[in-house]
Amino acid sequence: MAFPLTRMRRLRRTGALRGLVRETQLDAGDFILPFFVTHGSDRREPIAAMPGVERLSIDHVVAAAGEAAALGIPAVMLFGIPDHKDDDGSGAWDDEGIVQLATRAIKRAHPDLLVIPDLCLCEYTSHGHCGVLRADGHVDNDASLELLARTAVSQARAGADVIAPSDMMDGRVGVLRGALDEAGFADLPILAYSAKFASAFYGPFREAAVSTPAFGDRRSYQMDPANGDEALREVALDVEEGADMVMVKPALPYLDVIRRVKEMTRLPVVAYNVSGEYAMVKAAAAAGHLDERATVLETLTAIRRAGADVIITYHASDAARWLQEAT
Ligand SMILES: [Zn+2]
Repeated sequence: MAFPLTRMRRLRRTGALRGLVRETQLDAGDFILPFFVTHGSDRREPIAAMPGVERLSIDHVVAAAGEAAALGIPAVMLFGIPDHKDDDGSGAWDDEGIVQLATRAIKRAHPDLLVIPDLCLCEYTSHGHCGVLRADGHVDNDASLELLARTAVSQARAGADVIAPSDMMDGRVGVLRGALDEAGFADLPILAYSAKFASAFYGPFREAAVSTPAFGDRRSYQMDPANGDEALREVALDVEEGADMVMVKPALPYLDVIRRVKEMTRLPVVAYNVSGEYAMVKAAAAAGHLDERATVLETLTAIRRAGADVIITYHASDAARWLQEAT
């Protein structure tokens, strides 16, 4: 049935009609808000490339997490900035480490809020890589797994609600599942950073988390941005090893991958709307080139439409507020 029988504009005529047939709904209940947490008290350090995002001491993170919960955001993600780093990244599995302390503090204050600590070594290693370095400068996959497993169990003991490995070592989901089960945490879900691309969009994050590699780059473990089929293989392996949720990171340049992962797995798919995606919108809005609110809501809607069930985003609180105002 073509024109004039079919007129697509009939259902766009009024706001009520458009709302009635809207396919994708944005809901604060699907957002995860990330935090950068640092030692000390009453500390707030702005991050130049990410206006509105700060490195916060635990007292401020607890307060900000409470504000997020009040806006209907169900989960927060924690990136730790330790006060010392070493070759192995031992701060990652220290039961008194920054992320463990922050997890306990948030769970004490807001027991219903989900706390998801990032699980990687790069924030804790002096060289800034995501695993153990061999003498030749290569990251040793299998030696790193043991340290990641220790970290997962330590985070679980601190009260983490989800374990979220972001390192991209081969076989880590299976090893973490085994370690968690053995330690009595068989009920703790794993959100795997399955298709994590070696992306230029992580630039502002590295400033925020002070985790720029001291040499080289992460292309020997993160994925080549050119590869979609390989992303599906990564996801399939993580699912086979026991991942309960899978992630695609970044989001906006990889909407096709999000869609393919959703269709292949039918698992909850999480997309990480990363620091560079955030920084671009903030910079363009500050320069008066974009309407921030409209751009953010459109971006998040597009990520959901592509197939993401959950979005990790630094815009979470703003977006939640805007969605409340709209209703
Ligand atoms: Zn890492």
